[in-house]
Amino acid sequence: MAMNRIPGQNIYIGGIFSLKNRAALERANITHVLSVLRLQPQEETFAGFQHHRIDVDDVEDENLLEHFPSAIKFIQSGLDAGGGVLVHCAMGKSRSATICIAYLLHQQPSALTPQSALAIIKESRPLCEPNDGFMKQLSIYHQMGCPDDVISHPLYNRWLYRREVEESVACGRAPEMSSVLFEDEQPHKSQDNTDRTTEIKCRKCRRNLATTPFIIPHGPQNGAKGPTDCAHIFLHPLTWMRPCLFPNGEDDGAPPGDAPLSGRLTCPNTSCGSNIGKFAWQGMQCSCGDWVVPAIGLAKARIDMSQRVNVGRLPPAALGIRMPPSMRPNPADDSTNGRGNL
Ligand SMILES: [Zn+2]
Ligand SMILES: [Zn+2]
Repeated sequence: MAMNRIPGQNIYIGGIFSLKNRAALERANITHVLSVLRLQPQEETFAGFQHHRIDVDDVEDENLLEHFPSAIKFIQSGLDAGGGVLVHCAMGKSRSATICIAYLLHQQPSALTPQSALAIIKESRPLCEPNDGFMKQLSIYHQMGCPDDVISHPLYNRWLYRREVEESVACGRAPEMSSVLFEDEQPHKSQDNTDRTTEIKCRKCRRNLATTPFIIPHGPQNGAKGPTDCAHIFLHPLTWMRPCLFPNGEDDGAPPGDAPLSGRLTCPNTSCGSNIGKFAWQGMQCSCGDWVVPAIGLAKARIDMSQRVNVGRLPPAALGIRMPPSMRPNPADDSTNGRGNL
């Protein structure tokens, strides 16, 4: 099949055979060729073109996301120089389409979604269909705001961590401790941008366990009512969980994969040690029916949840109360926000 031009762009999508049609390449004034496949045609095929290659297979767990910025930069350099750009893979169906969607998203992050960008591409090349893993990566890229630097973004790191866990679980073992993303240790701390902070404490000893940024929303009522009907609250990995998740410690000579796939979570207060929930790297189903993978779940019956209004984020009128000056909270006192007293 011939190559096809993306509507409104000087960008073409094609399969490997579109490289053979020199006449068509000339007619389209192709100056730049981006190859998105592992099997490379002979180098002389690219003589006379600016050429950039990304060695990936068309499989769902291939990391194409990390290549988006360099691919977009290359496409842009071709367009800026007044040329045409051919983005090709083997069939011109999944990999090349993914890169072109990433380019369109990067151009208009607020106007487009991965689906609507795909629809534009399909207008001229209906066979385009990124695999599910690539669509997911496009969605993460879009959620990030289509940045020029992907690999230092917290969402990218969370995605990498989940991939590692999935790969380990597929081999029947827990992930390595070094691949687990302990969210409260990240340089980009998860921001608490909500009006209310949920605080979770051990019911027995009142030890702080987590606050809003470390709670994973889930379930059918996700966002609407909050997880009030669920038997579990799911958390991102946090530092205090280390002894539960990795009872054999780290780098102590224990063979890799020695950590349990699932187990109990106990209160980090050593004088309490109450059983507060469980973890399962392979995932767990909540009473609401939703699966959370991987799952670190606190049992609702073992914890207390409270809500605190983030006064610093709201104008006093929004709180519906007037307080005498001496009782007004000091917005500069941020010590109880975000990480709490983890
Ligand atoms: Zn406790
Ligand atoms: Zn639930």
